[in-house]
Amino acid sequence: MKHSLYDPNNIFAKIIRGEIPCNKLDECPHTLTFLDINPQAPIHVLIIPKGSYVDMNDFSSRASIEEQAAFIAAIGRAAKLTGAFEGGYRIISNVGGFGHQEVPHLHAHLLGGESIGPIRLR
Ligand code: AMP
Repeated sequence: MKHSLYDPNNIFAKIIRGEIPCNKLDECPHTLTFLDINPQAPIHVLIIPKGSYVDMNDFSSRASIEEQAAFIAAIGRAAKLTGAFEGGYRIISNVGGFGHQEVPHLHAHLLGGESIGPIRLR
């Protein structure tokens, strides 16, 4: 089922379709994990569902339980595969205007490899 607000030409949709490359870390039938092109920490990967979901609002409303479970499992694998698991890390998913979301396809940022600092952003 497609979401009426989903833009199929967003950059992550193109990565999923193989139209543009990515530095892939991990993949499963429901998810893809790749390195962020502009890393904000020594470890910075993006975990995305392969389904067409704009953001966490959309995903949590429409995705199947299997897709939702796969997304969480992919985040857990990413922590282990990157080595972030031991030292600790931060997971962020920006939503909409207040969240400063740039790419309109759900993604979780996993940041680690050094202290990420306090959560307070202002
Ligand atoms: P957000 O503001 O949460 O939407 O973050 C979007 C993220 O996508 C940013 O951290 C970008 O550096 C990253 N990004 C944009 N284009 C690409 C790309 N082609 N490959 C990997 N990461 C990308």
